[in-house]
Amino acid sequence: MIYLDWAATAPLSETAKQAWLEATAVTGNASATHAAGRAARSVLEDAREQIASVLGVDPPEVIVTSGGTEADNLAVAGPAARGRVLYSAIEHPAVREAAELHAPTHAVIPVTADGVVDMTALESMLDEDVSLVSVMAANNETGIIQPLAEIAALVRERAPQARLHTDAVQAVASLDIPKDYAMSISGHKLGAPVGVGALIAARDYPLVPLEGGGGQERRVRSGTLNVAGAAALAAALSEAVELRSEREARLRALGVRVAAACVRAGGSLSGGDVPRLAHIVHALFPATDPEALLLGLDMAGIACSTGSACSAGVYRPSRVLEAMGVDEASTPLRFSLGEGTTEADVDALERALPAAVDMARRAVRA
Ligand code: PLP
Repeated sequence: MIYLDWAATAPLSETAKQAWLEATAVTGNASATHAAGRAARSVLEDAREQIASVLGVDPPEVIVTSGGTEADNLAVAGPAARGRVLYSAIEHPAVREAAELHAPTHAVIPVTADGVVDMTALESMLDEDVSLVSVMAANNETGIIQPLAEIAALVRERAPQARLHTDAVQAVASLDIPKDYAMSISGHKLGAPVGVGALIAARDYPLVPLEGGGGQERRVRSGTLNVAGAAALAAALSEAVELRSEREARLRALGVRVAAACVRAGGSLSGGDVPRLAHIVHALFPATDPEALLLGLDMAGIACSTGSACSAGVYRPSRVLEAMGVDEASTPLRFSLGEGTTEADVDALERALPAAVDMARRAVRA
């Protein structure tokens, strides 16, 4: 199989696997006071320190969660109790639905046709009632990078009381996130197992518990501590950030080839000529049947995604593309690359894509 869906989930990395296995060998509940508990606690605190050091924050600012979804919900729920939440039109459902659930008042910041937050609109939405502005660092479908530093400067000027949060799940391995932001990260996008992530939030960031329990993490996040998960997350994150520049250059070159293959097959890249993550290529194929296109690629052994929510195998138009004003008649395809992606994988895609697009065009005409 040619795996080009790393943004959905990355294969377990050897480094994360080793860290996970070593940590699981330590028996003990990290909240217990006996020696075994203390041993487990020490593995967890080492992981927390490692995550903090990679991200340039203090260890108590790292709250280990069950993943990006929980981190996003925690980040939104606290500020939501204090005022209006603004979030961009291209946020992951974890941010959007958390705002809808927890914020008595919330509003959507539009994006331009380029796929970037509309700064003029944002400026007009900022006032003294805003308690949170949440904009993702880079979009999980298009890979388009958002102007976090400019957003922070604008918010500081127009709504200094507001907190800033960014969903950095897709971007933390590629970008430096400005220090003003609380940030969500997820292990399985980095090579750690599914089921661990973190919210990085300053000590004075307003947090409220989402679930009742022992309050093991900063008295707001309950549940027996996931020591091995935290160890794997720390190892995966450290490796991803350490290898950043080398990996980015290689993936950027492969991404250019993927984008060219899409264009040759009749597609066009979504969004404008704006900065993008190296590892995500997102293209639109007009007059094609979405299911036939995915099926054609799947039959050729290529795993990729439409970049939008697929439930029960049924293709649904993407809210992200809708927000960008993209014509719904085109099929979006997201190819996302990672550490293990090779030139040979891209060769295989180049060979398979024209026939898959052709089949999907015929399916529309049939
Ligand atoms: N945020 C973004 C941008 C994502 O791409 C994802 C995963 O698809 C999530 C949040 C959710 O992360 P998790 O699967 O760890 O809950």
